[in-house]
Amino acid sequence: MSGPEAPGPFGALGPFGVARLPRIVFGAGRISELSAIAAGYGTHVLLVTGSRSFRDGPAWAPLVAGLEAAGLAWDHLPVAGEPSPNLVDGAVADRRRDPPDVVVGIGGGAALDTAKAVAGLLRSGTSVLDHLEGVGRGLPYLGPATPFIAVPTTAGTGSEATWNAVITGQLPNAGPKAPPFKKSFRDDRLVASVALLDPDLLAGCPPAVIAGDGMDALTQLLESFTSTGASPFTDAVARSGLAAIGRALPAWHAAALGGAEASETAAARGAMAWAALCSGIALANAGLGAVHGIVAPLGARFGVHHGMGCGALVAAVTHMNIAVLAERAPGSPALDRYATAGRLLAGDPASTDGALTDEAARDALLATLDRLTAVLRVPRLAAYGVMADAFPALVAESRGSSMRTNPAVLTDDEIGAILEASL
Ligand SMILES: [Zn+2]
Repeated sequence: MSGPEAPGPFGALGPFGVARLPRIVFGAGRISELSAIAAGYGTHVLLVTGSRSFRDGPAWAPLVAGLEAAGLAWDHLPVAGEPSPNLVDGAVADRRRDPPDVVVGIGGGAALDTAKAVAGLLRSGTSVLDHLEGVGRGLPYLGPATPFIAVPTTAGTGSEATWNAVITGQLPNAGPKAPPFKKSFRDDRLVASVALLDPDLLAGCPPAVIAGDGMDALTQLLESFTSTGASPFTDAVARSGLAAIGRALPAWHAAALGGAEASETAAARGAMAWAALCSGIALANAGLGAVHGIVAPLGARFGVHHGMGCGALVAAVTHMNIAVLAERAPGSPALDRYATAGRLLAGDPASTDGALTDEAARDALLATLDRLTAVLRVPRLAAYGVMADAFPALVAESRGSSMRTNPAVLTDDEIGAILEASL
């Protein structure tokens, strides 16, 4: 890990890389550019959306009119729920004879991940189960991917900037007792060609979606910032996202709950779209941590919503990481980073210089996380039926790729204690 603070002009920069990024088109109203962008890739578009909300919203009719005016043929795949192997493989099989030139995913994380996986497999015709990490057949993905345009309508998952699609399902022939999985199809050829972020598309987001996806973005920013894979590049991106999200998330949520569009609500939406994009760029380059390690089996076994599960866990994980580092690795740069994150989330640029002592800034971080989970009405894990007798299996299944970049090496007992504290 690099040093705790961004290096100054004479600071030593270690070696690092930046993974492939989409071309980024950001700004209110820029959805109007989508058909022209899509036309740059061909004449046949596959639109992947969530099941209802976008199609029922005000942006659907102008979008379709725009595609038709641009002479584009399109077909539509509405997605209910999270991407499963059957959904992805079925969508690919249905379109292999007359494949689209470009896939446009419009929606939340599930729609974008479905679109990303389908775009990845249309040309190879292979099953998503061939390429999933940790389950399935473990065959290399050889590409090529069909060009993919990602258009998020929520602020949180960062899928528009990442190179993985999270697939939820059950292995075929694994028997009824086999646990379901939540695993990634990951390859840098899956990165969207274009990420189009129009904060106006976030208007009308229900409060629970704002809360869940917002806590996902916040967790992704905090975990990538404190990850053992962090770099000067991800530090810059994560800092910007953390500075944006601390005030924007509760402000946008409060406006949505009250049903009133305050003058600053549009600015809060824009800040959240930016923070979510930062979270995706940072996580794709730095990796994540224990929250994402633990939330994956919670989602697979208990249907815990990804972002709400992150929200339920993030305070307990942060508390545990700080305590473990203070005891076993007091010189860890992650301790300084937690302090910096506490200052950035407080939203006062002057405070990033250290108006608070490091210890007070870490306490402020924990207090902010507790306050946000309360204000945003994040359910605790027991609300999903999680019970203590499942802890051994959950602990065993939490050690995926995210756990490997957690700043502290946690014992099974410590992961169990995090679950207990989040119940
Ligand atoms: Zn996440």
